[in-house]
Amino acid sequence: MSDDCIFCKIIAGKIPCAKVYDQGGIFAFLDIAPVNKGHALVVSRTHYATLFDLPPDLGRELLAALKSVGRAVMQATGATGLNMGMNNFEVAGQLVHHAHFHLVPRHEGDGLRLWTQHAYESGEEMQKLAQAVRTAIG
Ligand code: AMP
Ligand code: ZN
Repeated sequence: MSDDCIFCKIIAGKIPCAKVYDQGGIFAFLDIAPVNKGHALVVSRTHYATLFDLPPDLGRELLAALKSVGRAVMQATGATGLNMGMNNFEVAGQLVHHAHFHLVPRHEGDGLRLWTQHAYESGEEMQKLAQAVRTAIG
C-alpha cells in the first residue's frame, strides 16, 4: 500500500469505486471517466508503479482476470470488440502510478481511434532498430 496512491485507497475501501472483480491478487473497477461506458481498470492489489515492476509470477492470474473482466464487460455492454491498453510513465499518459490495464468495450461505428501510425524512412532504418531492440533484450 502506497499512502499517496488513489488506487491503493480504492482497493483498501477508503475511496468508493464501482468494483467489478476482486479475486486473489487482482482487483478491477470501472473507470470514473470512461472512453466508452463499461471501461474497466484491472490492477494488482499490491502497489507496483508500472508494467516493468509487475512480478512475472503474477502473469497467470493477471491474464485470467483480464480475460474474465474483458469478456464480462463486453457481455454487460453489448460490445462487439474490446481494446486493452496500458500507459507507462508520464510521457505515455500515465496519471496514476499504480500499474493498471484499461479494458475499453468497443461498438460498431463508435469512432474511437487509438493510434496515429507513421512510416519508417526505409526498410534499413526499420531493420537497424529491430537489431537495437534485439541487442537490448540480450
Ligand atoms: P492513466 O492515464 O493510464 O494513469 O489512467 C488513469 C485512469 O484512472 C483515468 O482513466 C482516470 O479516469 C481513472 N481514475 C482516476 N481516478 C479514479 C477513481 N477514483 N475511480 C475510477 N477511475 C479513476
Ligand atoms: Zn497503489
